[in-house]
Amino acid sequence: MIDICNSPNSLDQPSVHEAGHATMAVIQKRHCEGIFVELADEGRVFWRTITENVGLTKESYLIDAAATAAELLVFGQVVSEPIGDKRDFSLPGAPSWDATVAEAQSILTPFVDAIRRIAAAVQRVRATVPLTSIPELTIDGLKLRQVLSTDDIYRAFHGC
Ligand SMILES: [Zn+2]
Repeated sequence: MIDICNSPNSLDQPSVHEAGHATMAVIQKRHCEGIFVELADEGRVFWRTITENVGLTKESYLIDAAATAAELLVFGQVVSEPIGDKRDFSLPGAPSWDATVAEAQSILTPFVDAIRRIAAAVQRVRATVPLTSIPELTIDGLKLRQVLSTDDIYRAFHGC
Protein backbone atom coordinates (compact mmCIF):
# COMPACT_ATOMS: atom_id res chain seq x y z
CA MET A 1 0.00 0.00 0.00
CA ILE A 2 1.43 3.30 -1.03
CA ASP A 3 0.85 6.28 1.19
CA ILE A 4 0.11 8.91 -1.40
CA CYS A 5 -1.03 11.44 1.20
CA ASN A 6 2.43 11.90 2.58
CA SER A 7 4.18 13.44 -0.39
CA PRO A 8 7.82 14.38 -0.12
CA ASN A 9 8.79 18.03 -0.32
CA SER A 10 10.83 17.70 -3.45
CA LEU A 11 9.88 15.75 -6.52
CA ASP A 12 12.48 14.54 -8.98
CA GLN A 13 12.50 14.66 -12.76
CA PRO A 14 11.81 11.01 -13.66
CA SER A 15 8.83 10.82 -11.30
CA VAL A 16 7.28 14.07 -12.53
CA HIS A 17 8.00 13.16 -16.17
CA GLU A 18 6.25 9.77 -15.97
CA ALA A 19 3.44 11.24 -13.85
CA GLY A 20 2.82 13.70 -16.71
CA HIS A 21 2.37 10.87 -19.24
CA ALA A 22 0.14 8.93 -16.82
CA THR A 23 -2.00 11.94 -15.87
CA MET A 24 -2.69 12.80 -19.51
CA ALA A 25 -3.59 9.17 -20.25
CA VAL A 26 -6.15 9.23 -17.42
CA ILE A 27 -7.56 12.58 -18.61
CA GLN A 28 -7.80 11.24 -22.17
CA LYS A 29 -9.53 8.10 -20.84
CA ARG A 30 -6.81 5.86 -22.27
CA HIS A 31 -5.87 2.77 -20.32
CA CYS A 32 -2.59 3.23 -18.48
CA GLU A 33 -0.86 -0.07 -17.79
CA GLY A 34 1.41 1.49 -15.20
CA ILE A 35 4.72 3.20 -14.61
CA PHE A 36 7.68 0.90 -15.14
CA VAL A 37 11.43 0.96 -14.85
CA GLU A 38 13.97 -0.85 -16.99
CA LEU A 39 17.25 -1.56 -15.24
CA ALA A 40 19.78 -1.71 -18.06
CA ASP A 41 23.48 -2.48 -18.13
CA GLU A 42 25.99 -0.26 -16.37
CA GLY A 43 23.43 0.96 -13.87
CA ARG A 44 21.38 2.81 -16.47
CA VAL A 45 17.74 3.26 -15.53
CA PHE A 46 15.00 3.91 -18.08
CA TRP A 47 11.52 4.95 -16.97
CA ARG A 48 8.44 4.19 -19.06
CA THR A 49 4.74 4.82 -18.72
CA ILE A 50 2.84 2.26 -20.77
CA THR A 51 -0.50 3.36 -22.13
CA GLU A 52 -3.00 1.77 -24.46
CA ASN A 53 -1.73 2.02 -28.03
CA VAL A 54 -4.14 4.34 -29.80
CA GLY A 55 -2.06 4.82 -32.93
CA LEU A 56 -0.92 8.23 -34.10
CA THR A 57 -3.89 10.14 -32.78
CA LYS A 58 -4.26 13.54 -31.19
CA GLU A 59 -4.45 11.74 -27.82
CA SER A 60 -1.20 9.87 -28.36
CA TYR A 61 0.64 13.08 -29.26
CA LEU A 62 -0.79 14.79 -26.17
CA ILE A 63 0.31 11.85 -23.98
CA ASP A 64 3.82 12.06 -25.52
CA ALA A 65 4.05 15.82 -24.93
CA ALA A 66 2.51 15.67 -21.45
CA ALA A 67 5.73 14.72 -19.67
CA THR A 68 7.50 17.85 -20.88
CA ALA A 69 4.38 19.88 -20.05
CA ALA A 70 4.43 18.39 -16.52
CA GLU A 71 8.10 19.34 -16.07
CA LEU A 72 7.26 22.90 -17.15
CA LEU A 73 4.32 23.06 -14.73
CA VAL A 74 6.14 21.56 -11.72
CA PHE A 75 9.73 22.79 -12.23
CA GLY A 76 9.16 25.82 -14.47
CA GLN A 77 11.58 24.37 -17.02
CA VAL A 78 12.29 21.29 -19.11
CA VAL A 79 14.71 19.24 -17.04
CA SER A 80 15.72 16.60 -19.57
CA GLU A 81 15.60 16.53 -23.36
CA PRO A 82 12.65 14.23 -24.24
CA ILE A 83 14.23 12.47 -27.21
CA GLY A 84 11.96 9.39 -27.08
CA ASP A 85 8.81 11.44 -26.59
CA LYS A 86 9.60 13.57 -29.66
CA ARG A 87 10.12 10.59 -31.96
CA ASP A 88 6.62 10.45 -33.49
CA PHE A 89 6.63 14.23 -34.04
CA SER A 90 9.08 13.81 -36.93
CA LEU A 91 6.60 11.67 -38.87
CA PRO A 92 4.70 13.13 -41.83
CA GLY A 93 1.48 14.81 -40.73
CA ALA A 94 2.56 15.07 -37.10
CA PRO A 95 1.56 18.18 -35.16
CA SER A 96 4.16 20.66 -33.96
CA TRP A 97 5.99 19.63 -30.77
CA ASP A 98 5.90 23.11 -29.27
CA ALA A 99 2.20 23.62 -29.97
CA THR A 100 1.35 20.19 -28.54
CA VAL A 101 3.41 20.82 -25.38
CA ALA A 102 1.56 24.14 -24.98
CA GLU A 103 -1.80 22.43 -25.41
CA ALA A 104 -0.79 19.66 -22.99
CA GLN A 105 0.25 22.32 -20.48
CA SER A 106 -3.13 24.02 -20.61
CA ILE A 107 -4.95 20.67 -20.27
CA LEU A 108 -2.74 19.65 -17.32
CA THR A 109 -2.80 22.98 -15.46
CA PRO A 110 -5.92 22.07 -13.40
CA PHE A 111 -4.35 18.66 -12.68
CA VAL A 112 -0.98 19.74 -11.24
CA ASP A 113 -1.89 18.29 -7.85
CA ALA A 114 -2.69 14.94 -9.49
CA ILE A 115 0.71 15.01 -11.23
CA ARG A 116 2.38 15.74 -7.89
CA ARG A 117 0.51 12.91 -6.16
CA ILE A 118 1.43 10.36 -8.85
CA ALA A 119 5.06 11.54 -8.81
CA ALA A 120 5.09 11.29 -5.02
CA ALA A 121 3.72 7.75 -5.25
CA VAL A 122 6.57 6.81 -7.63
CA GLN A 123 9.12 8.32 -5.27
CA ARG A 124 7.62 6.56 -2.28
CA VAL A 125 8.11 3.19 -3.97
CA ARG A 126 11.66 4.15 -4.90
CA ALA A 127 12.38 5.18 -1.33
CA THR A 128 10.98 2.02 0.23
CA VAL A 129 11.52 -0.83 -2.25
CA PRO A 130 14.81 -1.75 -3.96
CA LEU A 131 13.92 -1.59 -7.66
CA THR A 132 15.88 -4.83 -8.20
CA SER A 133 13.44 -6.63 -5.88
CA ILE A 134 10.43 -5.85 -8.12
CA PRO A 135 9.75 -8.86 -10.39
CA GLU A 136 10.81 -8.42 -14.00
CA LEU A 137 8.12 -8.68 -16.70
CA THR A 138 8.63 -8.84 -20.45
CA ILE A 139 6.41 -6.28 -22.17
CA ASP A 140 6.86 -5.42 -25.85
CA GLY A 141 10.23 -7.18 -25.71
CA LEU A 142 11.45 -4.99 -22.85
CA LYS A 143 12.34 -6.25 -19.39
CA LEU A 144 10.36 -3.97 -17.12
CA ARG A 145 9.55 -3.75 -13.43
CA GLN A 146 6.23 -2.24 -12.43
CA VAL A 147 6.62 0.66 -9.99
CA LEU A 148 2.98 1.80 -10.08
CA SER A 149 0.03 -0.25 -11.27
CA THR A 150 -3.07 1.01 -13.05
CA ASP A 151 -4.88 1.09 -9.70
CA ASP A 152 -2.03 2.94 -7.97
CA ILE A 153 -2.19 5.59 -10.70
CA TYR A 154 -5.97 5.99 -10.46
CA ARG A 155 -5.84 6.22 -6.67
CA ALA A 156 -3.14 8.87 -6.80
CA PHE A 157 -4.91 10.74 -9.62
CA HIS A 158 -8.11 11.01 -7.60
CA GLY A 159 -6.33 11.90 -4.35
CA CYS A 160 -6.67 10.67 -0.82
ZN1 LIG B 1 8.57 10.49 -21.69
